[in-house]
This record gives sequence, C-alpha cells and structure tokens, in this order.
Amino acid sequence: MHDNLIGGDWVGSSSLLSNINPSDITENVGNYAKASQADVARAAEAARAAFPAWRNATAQLRADILAAAGEEILARRDELGALLAREEGKVLAEAIGEVVRAGRIFRFFAGEAVRTPGEILPQVRLGVDVEVTREPVGVVGIITPWNFPIAIPAWKIAPALAFGNCVLFKPSELTPAMGWMLTDILLRAGLPRGVLSLLMGEGRDVGAALVETVDAISFTGSVQTGHSIMAAASQRMPKLQLEMGGKNPLIVLDDADLTLAAEVAANGAFGQTGQRCTASSRLIVTAGIHDRFVAALQERLEAFVVDNAMKPGSQIGPVIDQRQLDKNQNYIEIAKSEGAKVYGGELLQRDTPGFYMRPCLFLETNSGMRINREEIFGPIASVVRAANYEEALAIANDTEYGLSAGICTTSLKYAQHFRRHVEAGLAMVNLPTAGLDYHAPFGGTKASSFGPREQGSYAVDFYTVTKTAYISP
Ligand code: NAD
Repeated sequence: MHDNLIGGDWVGSSSLLSNINPSDITENVGNYAKASQADVARAAEAARAAFPAWRNATAQLRADILAAAGEEILARRDELGALLAREEGKVLAEAIGEVVRAGRIFRFFAGEAVRTPGEILPQVRLGVDVEVTREPVGVVGIITPWNFPIAIPAWKIAPALAFGNCVLFKPSELTPAMGWMLTDILLRAGLPRGVLSLLMGEGRDVGAALVETVDAISFTGSVQTGHSIMAAASQRMPKLQLEMGGKNPLIVLDDADLTLAAEVAANGAFGQTGQRCTASSRLIVTAGIHDRFVAALQERLEAFVVDNAMKPGSQIGPVIDQRQLDKNQNYIEIAKSEGAKVYGGELLQRDTPGFYMRPCLFLETNSGMRINREEIFGPIASVVRAANYEEALAIANDTEYGLSAGICTTSLKYAQHFRRHVEAGLAMVNLPTAGLDYHAPFGGTKASSFGPREQGSYAVDFYTVTKTAYISP
C-alpha cells in the first residue's frame, strides 16, 4: 500500500486506486491510496503554513534539494524505468529515457534556483532606481496526465520548488506509481514538511477539489479537462497554465529525403505508441512523393515489433487501457465511414494479455474528416495528399490545435517560410514533431495551450510574479 503525503505525513485511505499493467492486465503494479477532499484541504493548510519559511529559504538550500533529487532519480534510472514501463506501457528503453530526462530536469532547475532573474532600471528618475524582482506565487496545484508520468511532474514540480512555491501534486489516476516515487525521492532529498503534498485520486474529485484551493494551477491533459478547470477556476482567478492536446501536422514535400522523411514520420507518429501530445498524427504529403512515401512508411510499420513493454526488442508497447483501445478502434470505424482507406490497426494477441494493436495509417483522407480534426491519442496517423507546399501549409494550419508541427524538405526557402507561417508553438524541420528538449521553452498556440510557456529558462514566468520597487535614497 502506498499512501498520500499530506503535510509531511504519509496518510492511508480505505479507498484504493488499482494500477493495471497495460502489457499484462493480470498484473496489479501496486495499491495506491485515494485522497479525500478533506485530505486536499489539510494538504492546502499545511502548504500555507510551510510557505513563509520556504519562500524565505536560501536559493542554495532549494538548489541542493533539487540536485539531490535529480541525482537519485538518475542513479535509480533502471529501477524507475522498469516501474514506469510496467505501469504505463512505454517500452523499457523509452521509459528509462523518460526517467533520465526527469533527473536532468531536476539538475537543470537546481541551477535555475540560484539564478532567479531580476532587473534593475537605473535612474528612472533622478536618484531613483527601479528594481524588478520575482517572488513565488504561493501554493501551486500540479495536475498531470499519464503519458509522461515522471517527466511532466518533473518539469512542473522542479521549477515550482526552485522559485519558492509550495506544491499540491495530483498525478494521473492511471499512473500513481511514478508520482509516488517522485514524491518519496523529493521528501528524502530534504524538502521541509508541508512544502510538497501528494494527492492521488481521480480528476473529478481530488483534481476538482485542488482547483478550488490553490493560487496557481499548472495542468497538462486533454482540452476538455483544461476547459473544465478554466471554468471552475474562473470563480477565483488563480494563475493558470494549461497544456493540452494536439493534432500535429508533418508536411513531406516532393524535395524531401525519402528515407529520412519516412523515419521522421514513423518515429513522430508511432513512437511511444502514438500517445504523445506532440505525435505527428497528420502526415501531409505533396503529390510527387506521396506514393513512394506511403510505401516507405508502410514498410516501417510492418517492421515494428509490438509487444510487452518489458520484452527485449519490443518497439511499440500497448495502449494505456481498454478505454483508449476502444477509442482507437472506434476511430478506425469512423475512418471507414468517412471514406478513408485503413492500413493496419488490428488488435493483437501477445504472450501476456494486454491492450495491443498494430500501428495504423488512414489513407486517402482529407482535412475536413473527423479523423483529421479530433485528437485520437493512439498509434494512428492520417495521410493527406496536397498539391504543393502552399496547399500543404494551409492544411497544416486547418486545425483548432497548435502544439507542434514539422516539415521534411531540403529547401531552405520552404523551411524558413514554414517556420514563420505555421500556426504552432513548436516548428520542426526534418525532425519528428515529438521528442523535445527540456532546455527550450515548450507550449502551443490556439486550443493547445493557455498561459506562459513551460520548461527551460521560461518556466520562471509561470512560477513567479514580479514585484517592481521604486527606491529613492
Ligand atoms: P485528462 O485530461 O483526462 O487528465 C489529465 C489530468 O487531469 C489527470 O490527472 C486527471 O485526473 C485530471 N482531471 C480530470 N478531470 C479533472 C477535473 N475536472 N479537475 C481537475 N483535474 C482533472 O488527460 P489524460 O488522458 O491523462 O492525458 C492525455 C491528454 O493529455 C491528451 O489530450 C494529450 O494531448 C494531453 N497531453 C498534453 C501535453 C502537453 O504538454 N500539451 C503533454 C502530454 C499530454
């Protein structure tokens, strides 16, 4: 049994979250306590009590704690990666890669903690300097999805703590194990009581209660949940950062390197079983390369090994749960009813019972179809044919989303035009739309994101508020 952390104490519950291994549904990865609404209130009270001392702690103390947590995560990469693979279904190499990224994020923000930026505007009036400093926001609610169960919590919790905030953390109910591990590591790294609380449970009760009580909310998840958080939060107006879904285009132009383009598309669309907000789910291909590109991509699809995430050689793990498997299969039916051709997508049996399906391509599609407008979040990508670059760009931008977008081309002219004119927060040239670096700002436009950017040196914008001081001698 793994308890919630409330104000420095591990607190159990009679109500448990089941944590099923999607690669082998006969395995329960562990038992995790569900927090109650009263637990959320107690955690918030403890965070408010801890805040004055934590905000006034030295930056070096905060940095040392974050660095110690980062080092422990890195040292335990294999163990944590294996747990992540079992609870989420990401293949082991990808899972270990995610753990390493989380460890490095803590290291990075240990550095950021001791160099919180400020500004001096000298002599704005005679003898008066203006000092702009940054202060923590207060108690931050962090609500995360299941698809990066340690990296996303890391890229929110690390800057929140680095800049002196207290945190109430609610991991996805589908992946409590990584949330629990991360909390345990941070507590043992030396976090004072009450600075971090872990509240496991479902969104509609624990998540919603948390939204009611904090000074700022950093959320990653679906657009639908993001909207409901914004509606609930509008009563109190806490600071909000919402990172949501995508329907990310990858344009392939006639002049692209075919082998590279097929590789970029295969990785971008099907890496991590396609369960990435930045997955290349719309492949927009100009007419001259279309058939050769589709053939090259189909070859790669055939070669993919889909199997238990822990099995050596497995390249694509299962999808997260039965609900997502049903959703994927339902979109295959929608694709057929809309007149698309379906390649792959069959359910698969493996040695261990799990949520396996073959990667799937929708062919002969157009931009108006539901399959090209709605986020599916599985190992499925559509191919849309375009006459030329201009039409491809118009199709790429024909979406409510604006997270990531890519182009495969050998033309600098098109690459530069694309970078300027694609409506997305991330623009990738000859690279998958997914697979990003934690040093650089991350976030989208349009319906994909709301609020300041995450990650890198830009994270400070959300986790602090500026104070402007006019000081006269
Ligand atoms: P989700 O929206 O169902 O859940 C995300 C989190 O919100 C979970 O912890 C959930 O318990 C909680 N939640 C649900 N309802 C809530 C409510 N009413 N109040 C407060 N909290 C609530 O998303 P998911 O299925 O876990 O994740 C998949 C989605 O996340 C996809 O849409 C994907 O594109 C998106 N995603 C976005 C990014 C990004 O950075 N833009 C990264 C990863 C995933």
